[in-house]
Amino acid sequence: MATFKALLAAKTETGPSLAWQQLTEADLMEGDVTVAVSHTTINYKDGLALTGKAPVIRRWPMIPGIDLAGTVVSSSHADFKAGDAVVLNGWGVGETHYGGYAGLARLKGDWLIKRPPQLTAAEAMAVGTAGYTAMLAVLALERNGLNPAKGPVIVTGAAGGVGSVAIILLARLGYRVIASTGRTSERDYLTGLGAAEVIDRAELAGPARPLGKERWAGGIDAVGSHTLANLLSMTQYGGTIAACGLAQGMDLSTSVAPFILRGVTLAGIDSVMAPKALRQEAWRRLAHDLDKTKLSAITTSRPLAEVTGLAPEILAGKIRGRVVLEVG
Ligand code: NDP
Repeated sequence: MATFKALLAAKTETGPSLAWQQLTEADLMEGDVTVAVSHTTINYKDGLALTGKAPVIRRWPMIPGIDLAGTVVSSSHADFKAGDAVVLNGWGVGETHYGGYAGLARLKGDWLIKRPPQLTAAEAMAVGTAGYTAMLAVLALERNGLNPAKGPVIVTGAAGGVGSVAIILLARLGYRVIASTGRTSERDYLTGLGAAEVIDRAELAGPARPLGKERWAGGIDAVGSHTLANLLSMTQYGGTIAACGLAQGMDLSTSVAPFILRGVTLAGIDSVMAPKALRQEAWRRLAHDLDKTKLSAITTSRPLAEVTGLAPEILAGKIRGRVVLEVG
């Protein structure tokens, strides 16, 4: 039986202990599709899982990695056959089901998306869960009636993965994008992606007033906490903020003022359990709307073996854009 390399996380008193191991197909968990993984990636959540900073892993031992791209090796699922190119995000993979940091994965076919032909496996992982979440957020803004004529949009955590893809998407759709970052040294990077204005995240980091000056018609927030509260209080009448992240914190101390006095909508974004039809729509839109030259400009490629060293870096906000991890 063929063997493959996998990163195995074991539970210890002081957090996960990580070791590369040689496994066989028989070691994999249940599923109806087996996939040869060619590319995976590191998201903020992977950083939390690998370092144990949050209880992302809920079954031990675990192969971490919340997303992957690869080719079907064998399948008993009606929608997939050997040779199909597939992408997986979420569904508890890398949390309760063996994930992407391995040469082989066995998964439920119901979780898989056929990789859009416009994207290579490496590009699909350059998008990754971060970019797919950015697209889910754009779709939520659109569902709530936002369009470029309504006014500017703000993106927080701008130099990170979700933020970088969100800027590329929104700028391409014609929005005037305001990028909020702690790395103002990355101004050229952010304007290169399409941001019209770059602001220091310190402006939004403190406690929010119930209502502030109306500065944007909408936004995508990867940061949470006071930053999200400030976004809401500065959203113009009838606007929408899509909340997807917690890089500043899980808390949200706000008032009802933006909702009841300005009709502002707070749209929650979850990528993990998003229904399949919504995922397919997000990946279809990514394949059509994402500027691939800009995607390549935000992407670094590294061997999978380096993932353990990247985990503390992503949590420290030191990784710019997206990292593709090459498997094998
Ligand atoms: P990244 O680490 O790539 O980006 C996060 C960015 O947030 C950093 O680059 C930094 O941007 C900013 N940031 C970091 N720390 C702070 C802080 N203390 N205060 C304010 N801003 C900070 O992560 P991802 O893009 O992968 O993920 C972003 C967030 O979205 C995470 O919280 C993640 O858990 C969440 N997420 C949620 C999903 C969902 O399904 N809801 C799916 C995917 C991600 P800068 O340097 O520009 O300030």
